[in-house]
Amino acid sequence: MTITHRAVAIVSGLWLLFGPALAGAAGKPAAVDSARLNAADREPGNWMSHGRTYGEQRFSPLARVNDRNIERLGLAWQFKYDLDRVVEATPIVVDGVLYTTGAYSMVYALDATSGKLLWKYDPEVYRGIQGSGCCDAANRGVAVWKGRVYVGVYDGRLVALDARTGRQVWSVDTVIDHERNYTITGAPRIVKGKVVIGNGGAEFGVRGYVTAYDAATGKQVWRFFTVPGDPAKGDESDTITMIRKTWHGDQYWKQGGGGTAWNAMAYDPELDLLYIGVGNGSFWNYGLRSEGKGDNLFLSSIVAVRPDTGKYVWHYQTTPGDAWDYTATQDIIVATLPIDGKPRKVVMQAPKNGFFYVLDAATGQFISAEKFGSIVTWAKGIDKATGRPVFDAEAADYWTRGEAKLVFPGSQGAHNWHPMSFNPQTGLAYIPQHTSAERYDPLKVARKPARGVPNLGVEIPAVPEDRKELDELARLFTGKLQAWDPVRQKEVWSVPYPMMSNGGTMTTAGNLVFQGTTHGELVAYAADSGRKLWRREVSSGVVAGPVTYEVRGEQYVAFNVGWGGAFPITFGAIAQRSPVVPDSRLLVFKLGGTAAMPEVRRRVFTPPAPPPQTASAETVNAGRKLYADNCGACHGLGAMSANVIPDLRYLDAERHKEFEAIVFGARSHLGMPPFGHRLETDDIERIRAFLIKRAHDLKDEIAAARAATEDKTR
Ligand code: CA
Repeated sequence: MTITHRAVAIVSGLWLLFGPALAGAAGKPAAVDSARLNAADREPGNWMSHGRTYGEQRFSPLARVNDRNIERLGLAWQFKYDLDRVVEATPIVVDGVLYTTGAYSMVYALDATSGKLLWKYDPEVYRGIQGSGCCDAANRGVAVWKGRVYVGVYDGRLVALDARTGRQVWSVDTVIDHERNYTITGAPRIVKGKVVIGNGGAEFGVRGYVTAYDAATGKQVWRFFTVPGDPAKGDESDTITMIRKTWHGDQYWKQGGGGTAWNAMAYDPELDLLYIGVGNGSFWNYGLRSEGKGDNLFLSSIVAVRPDTGKYVWHYQTTPGDAWDYTATQDIIVATLPIDGKPRKVVMQAPKNGFFYVLDAATGQFISAEKFGSIVTWAKGIDKATGRPVFDAEAADYWTRGEAKLVFPGSQGAHNWHPMSFNPQTGLAYIPQHTSAERYDPLKVARKPARGVPNLGVEIPAVPEDRKELDELARLFTGKLQAWDPVRQKEVWSVPYPMMSNGGTMTTAGNLVFQGTTHGELVAYAADSGRKLWRREVSSGVVAGPVTYEVRGEQYVAFNVGWGGAFPITFGAIAQRSPVVPDSRLLVFKLGGTAAMPEVRRRVFTPPAPPPQTASAETVNAGRKLYADNCGACHGLGAMSANVIPDLRYLDAERHKEFEAIVFGARSHLGMPPFGHRLETDDIERIRAFLIKRAHDLKDEIAAARAATEDKTR
């Protein structure tokens, strides 16, 4: 080693030891800029952006905790959230401070070694607004930049906070039309001084876009629409003119078209490309949306743009003419892989549609795609020459035949937003994979968009109320942690889970993969073999992706715990089989940690005590349909809830008396939106009759199960 090299090594070693701490001590907290983010691997102790680095591999070079000592990993500290609700956030850790979010976009700054609350910011989101989004009052975390913390708020605000105090510096409204149901659940990304954020809302009828704001002032720099708008208003750019040719009829722009970019973004500083994952079509029904014609760009695509201008560079569409809610909003990873024997910079994604894609990062050129989903029926494969799917004729045109079709995956995909990770040492991607299915039942006539009403162009899916039928169905909806070789496009190992929608993954140079599960576990596996090495139980389900960081020579592993999101709220019929209870916490571990784990509680189904059923079967049936259209998306289809949002079978006599008042808004401050504009008194009584029936069903089921157990033990 020459003297110069030694000097560089010593200086960078010193930087590792003291640099981050000095940066924090000397000046502002969260003093992150392009230089630090572009060289994030130089300070592996920090987790400075959503996927740790701009390439979002969720790989940490830290190895102090590793496959040989992980049994010594114990709780260092915990933090209890204000609300026992959904926690989807990836924490950000900079210079000893951890920034995270809970439900309703509340932001917390904590001492990363003790969990001491430094400050809290509550954007005071109107609780009743939660029904204006498809998938719970979730937030996937903050971004930090030059002494500020940035959060996208559920109601569409983008807010900059002082990282020292949590005080608001500026706030902008990202929503272009408040008559539509725009939300923000995603984490902002900050590239070259611009805060970039997309919105949610495609299930309700909105037009998707991504906006970049000046991080210092909040001034809008650019906006990139992902689908064309009202042609009478003119195209915003040549790109919009180009993509409009792939849409037909006039329903798409009236409905909004969809294409919301509500989650995935990644950046490559070398290529100076920002990658955006674009969501599904609105309507889902391709026939109603675009007369069943055209690719409908940029639905279900990865789009690369210039971060300075938002100018289009390339796109790759995973699902042309999407008809199944197959978003390409699943996390995007940039990596260098050996392709045909040569290193090539690629982007990788495992979107809902069940195929794992590897694309050239510079050009978007298709390299390979294979099925990672366990059951994928909408397409037979991806044509290697064209990069286009070979559709299954029956699944692909359910809207033209006008009859319901069971398709795999369903709207929950073969993988949802729960972030995957990639370990360059094993060469494997770790996917929170799952199996879902859906019966797509097309409507013949399009409904008009309305506030707070999902508008899919297909019927809200019915779930069986019969216990046996439901058990059959539930057996399909399993999950697994899947280690995937992206070069050979093959599964290398997997660990099965009893249920879908498990938490995001994180992998380290200590040959580890960390993941939380929907049945209330935190687990670590050997990254190369999948061997289970460590496990702790928690009361709630886990959906967020864990992170790891180091402060003063100690490595920490942080898990956000708190169940929620589309699967447990809408598909409570299946999710209720997980025995978890609402209990939202941040749990942080270290080697030799001795803090006491919180007590583990489990859901027990006690018999409900409903009032007697006095309504006719006809009234109950009418109530079933009204419930599905108005209540099922949050309280669970078929009135079966996983208890993230109250299980209405357990309403007591007192609540039944107040039922109409509650529906009209008496509990909107607690999150129950007012439905007075949508439901008449008679309709509310019909819904109540259906709930009483479902409560008696559950009571009978519990009695039958108890009798069966007694029979066995006799
Ligand atoms: Ca969707």
